[in-house]
Amino acid sequence: MSGKLVPWDDARIHVGSHVIHYGSSVFEGIRCYKTPKGSAVFRLEAHTERLFNSAKIYWMEPAFTPPQVNAAILDTIRANKLEACYIRPVVYRGAGQLGVNPLGSPVETLVMVWDWGKYLGKEALEQGVDVCVSSWTRIAPNTLPAMAKSAGNYMNSQLIKVEAVKGGFAEGIALDAAGYVSEGSGENLFAVVKGRLVTPPLVSSVLPGITRDAVITLARGLGIPVEEKALPREMLYLADELFFTGTAAEITPIRSVDRQKVGTGSRGAVTAALQKAFFDVIECRSEDEHAWLTFVPGVPVPA
Ligand code: PMP
Repeated sequence: MSGKLVPWDDARIHVGSHVIHYGSSVFEGIRCYKTPKGSAVFRLEAHTERLFNSAKIYWMEPAFTPPQVNAAILDTIRANKLEACYIRPVVYRGAGQLGVNPLGSPVETLVMVWDWGKYLGKEALEQGVDVCVSSWTRIAPNTLPAMAKSAGNYMNSQLIKVEAVKGGFAEGIALDAAGYVSEGSGENLFAVVKGRLVTPPLVSSVLPGITRDAVITLARGLGIPVEEKALPREMLYLADELFFTGTAAEITPIRSVDRQKVGTGSRGAVTAALQKAFFDVIECRSEDEHAWLTFVPGVPVPA
């Protein structure tokens, strides 16, 4: 916290912190994987870049530079002796002046790491998940900026997620303010339509996902055409394959939407090929040609 290693139970913030009252924080979710070559953080620099972009949108100036945040992340993993973990850097407004104007509250930075399993369940990666279209619309342009990964955006995500879970679904897909497909509560979405990969563009109020970017890069490498274009809701029912991408969800197939089967109702060939390409990089079976892995110094290579 603010440059110091703090024991888990002592890692507290004041009740007067601006973030508690007004949601004023930006954050990242990053994964560190256990690989045959040691523990490796996936796309560390891309995440830190997005964290600083989110902070800029909200007029927050972290007291640390991106290389310092990267180093703090690696230090925190090492200090916790974790081989694999989820990493959460947060830039937030601490205790200062209470009032909507955030500028009188200090900008603090913290990094927490912890052990986390598969987000949508272990079987989800193979079997796929059942999802619904949410009755909640994704944050509209000129309300909250979707390109910033800010805590406040997740009030919208929570409504989408809880509605889905209470309805017996694993996840909800939100439409954007124009009624086109946007994304899941914490995942980007891809459709496979006649051999082409289609994903909603940034103007459909999606987070510029780092896994989304990785999947686009991997797909192009596999010769799969990729288009970023607006998706009408009905394409969710007509697509040959659908899947979510995200740091937590990785590449998770979607087997039904609103109880309608997607394609054959099981993981499709394009989804499986992209999962393989993705996990081949993460599990060091293929060359890390895009330099996506940052190895954690000081964490021993597994025997
Ligand atoms: N959209 C939302 C709303 C998210 O919370 C996330 C998870 N960060 C994503 C998409 C996927 O982004 P990434 O691949 O960078 O984790």
